[in-house]
Amino acid sequence: MPKINENYLNLKESYLFSEINHRVADYTQKNPDKKVIRLGIGDVTRPLGSTIIKALHEGVDAMASSETFKGYGPEQGYEFLRNAIAAYYEGHGVDINPKDIFVSDGAKSDTGNITDIFGNDNVILIPDPVYPVYVDTNIMCGRKITYISGTAENGFLPMPDKNVHADIIYICSPNNPTGAAYNCAQLKEWVDYALENEAVILYDSAYEAFISDPALPRSIFAIEGAKKCAIEFGSLSKTAGFTGTRCGYTIVPQELVFKTGDGQEVSLNAFWNRRQTTKFNGTSYIIQNGAAAVFTEEGMVQCMENIAYYKENARIIAEVLERKGIRYFGGKNSPYIWFECPDHMESWEFFDYLLNHAQIVGTPGAGFGENGKDFFRLTAFGTRENTLEAMERFEKLF
Ligand SMILES: *Cc1c(COP(=O)(O)O)cnc(C)c1O
Repeated sequence: MPKINENYLNLKESYLFSEINHRVADYTQKNPDKKVIRLGIGDVTRPLGSTIIKALHEGVDAMASSETFKGYGPEQGYEFLRNAIAAYYEGHGVDINPKDIFVSDGAKSDTGNITDIFGNDNVILIPDPVYPVYVDTNIMCGRKITYISGTAENGFLPMPDKNVHADIIYICSPNNPTGAAYNCAQLKEWVDYALENEAVILYDSAYEAFISDPALPRSIFAIEGAKKCAIEFGSLSKTAGFTGTRCGYTIVPQELVFKTGDGQEVSLNAFWNRRQTTKFNGTSYIIQNGAAAVFTEEGMVQCMENIAYYKENARIIAEVLERKGIRYFGGKNSPYIWFECPDHMESWEFFDYLLNHAQIVGTPGAGFGENGKDFFRLTAFGTRENTLEAMERFEKLF
């Protein structure tokens, strides 16, 4: 009999979205005449820009003739895409060596797979509330997690505690689910803390394209010293609508060098390269060709049009909350609006209330950690019409 990885038994039942679907299905069955509006989804809905579609078609055509056919590509990604990503960063004033960029099929895989290059005996800091992938992938390896609290008081932007040592620190900014984004001074504190502790920051920048405040950093590498202590995960999912197309990247600077137990220096870039070349055979050429089009001038204009559409939805949601005097976070540099459940309701109670009285589906904060239990997430990824209608109903409720 195989000995199975019993750490999986320590995972909490991932019931969040199935429980939501269950409650919605139950409601619609009992109220077939009511129109339910879903503002709970964390998935984009706008189609890809025409420049990207064209490049995807060109990628397919390349496979049709022996002159242009592509077989296995480099596991790290094609040079044309790595260069395009580096140029994108340069456009934001951040210098990245294309050799430090590893193209992948998305940030979820990379944020999960990164556990491969670290040992099990680390002090791992993970914010609460946060994207559940960081927690679950560490539990799968049997690692102990120390939570750092995001609260209304710290604006859901927990800061380092200098009296507590850490080895690995997860940061997601702009944050899913709270929409909160760290400023440069705050990230500098995290970088300084990491350098002092000889720790590594695992920085998820999946929502960087939603940052419109020019003072906010779009990359951890905008902070001095970060190349000595940080890995960044990027994704085209929210930037370019690639949730179904699949492409992301991870930046592991060659400056990132740590010592083994017996004092040998090792490069995390070399380790990640070894991991990827062993377990990953590259992202499809067709997709990479489409991804490169995202970073062209025309492609980026089209992506930013979609992002502007979502951000207008976010503004509409936030405006109603503001008028109602409901405390909220995010919605400005993020597609997520995170607010305090009115009338001291807990998040599941509020979920039922909103579904029953306004036929709006959102996401209960409890699904993202202990600290989310009195909060609720609405997303800007719906259509304009539905967002307007939902918020009109919301306005009449309170
Ligand atoms: C959506 C999302 C991602 C993107 O994951 P992909 O696998 O690239 O689609 C990464 N991190 C967070 C926090 C997200 O919400």
